[in-house]
Amino acid sequence: MTENTGNRNWRAATNLVHGGTMRSQFGETSEALYLTQGFVYSDAEAAEARFNGENPGYVYSRYANPTVSMFEDRIKALEGAEAARGTASGMAAVNLALMASVRAGDHVIAAKALFGSCRYICETLLPRFGVESTLVNGTDINEWKAAVRPNTKALFLESPTNPTLEVIDIAAVADIAKTAGARLIVDNVFATPLYQSPLKLGADVVVYSATKHIDGQGRCLGGVVLSDEEWITEEVMPFVKHTGPHMSPFSAWVLLKGLETLPLRVGRQTESAGKIADFLAGRPKIRRLIYPGRDDHPQADVAKRQMSGGSTMLAIEIEGGKEAAFRFTNALELIQISNNLGDAKSLITHPATTTHQSIGEEARAELDISDGILRLSVGLEDPLDLLEDVEKALSAI
Ligand SMILES: *Cc1c(COP(=O)(O)O)cnc(C)c1O
Repeated sequence: MTENTGNRNWRAATNLVHGGTMRSQFGETSEALYLTQGFVYSDAEAAEARFNGENPGYVYSRYANPTVSMFEDRIKALEGAEAARGTASGMAAVNLALMASVRAGDHVIAAKALFGSCRYICETLLPRFGVESTLVNGTDINEWKAAVRPNTKALFLESPTNPTLEVIDIAAVADIAKTAGARLIVDNVFATPLYQSPLKLGADVVVYSATKHIDGQGRCLGGVVLSDEEWITEEVMPFVKHTGPHMSPFSAWVLLKGLETLPLRVGRQTESAGKIADFLAGRPKIRRLIYPGRDDHPQADVAKRQMSGGSTMLAIEIEGGKEAAFRFTNALELIQISNNLGDAKSLITHPATTTHQSIGEEARAELDISDGILRLSVGLEDPLDLLEDVEKALSAI
């Protein structure tokens, strides 16, 4: 490594192109892909010094890897976090953030409207290891307050939520966490690091599935945990080092390239999503349209306060339940049916029969996920083609 151009006081878009870059002796333009498991030492003394920390450097790619370090430094600068740790997937990041926050006998509070696997960790996995959890209605601040116990160590939420795009007041929940002496972990996937900065709103930890907008082109899985240096060093690093949920250097390289174009892609996708939301609002067959960038969003005031942009996602409730929702979905020609999101390709999903099938009817009713709800992730296609596709599908209901 001869040069580290990373993390000067640049604006976001510049940091996303240059932040964290480490150039080798060859002076490559694009970040090098260090696809290696291990590292060699010039002599036994150098190996000893590397292992006892006297000579900082790389030891083994389960611990750290230069390409992964570049990814971590780049996103760290964007988020304004002291430290970051890349992981194999978004779920590895969520699991890591929770596992590094609790011990047996502790208690976790989480919003009910969670990504399915996150809910599984809180509801099913943590209790197996003696960590109790309470699920609350995230938009009701009093429920968070009432759920706090002396042993509460972590509060966990995502905002906007999947799939109904509820917006939770992060600063208000952060206040409760602070008073309780607990860590607030925010899954910021739907907002992206461009539109919402949970750390600035008082959260302690931010997690991403980099699989979504950060790759944004459907290629690889990845995740990241961002927080303060002390906690990452003392709790997160040892967990990664000894249990192996680390990010692959190949994925880190793909995701570094993804970060370069993140503002362009998310900006364009948001603009198109806004156009589709405006087109659908108030149409006869649309019972409900949920878009965080509109004034008719149920938490529009909170969204305005804590988000600097709308969303690449929108949700609609179609009149006529599952049958009408399926007819609409099947009539789409350009928009693809898939449960992924944040992609260059526009994707639609029917949560009640896919991503939220396993939680059961009762839990779906609690989360307002009726059989008529569809979630649309807007991609990079020409918005006019997307509007034509949606209009045609509406007339097929
Ligand atoms: C996709 C997603 C995850 C899980 O990420 P993977 O990369 O698929 O493991 C977690 N939280 C949210 C909000 C997601 O959308």
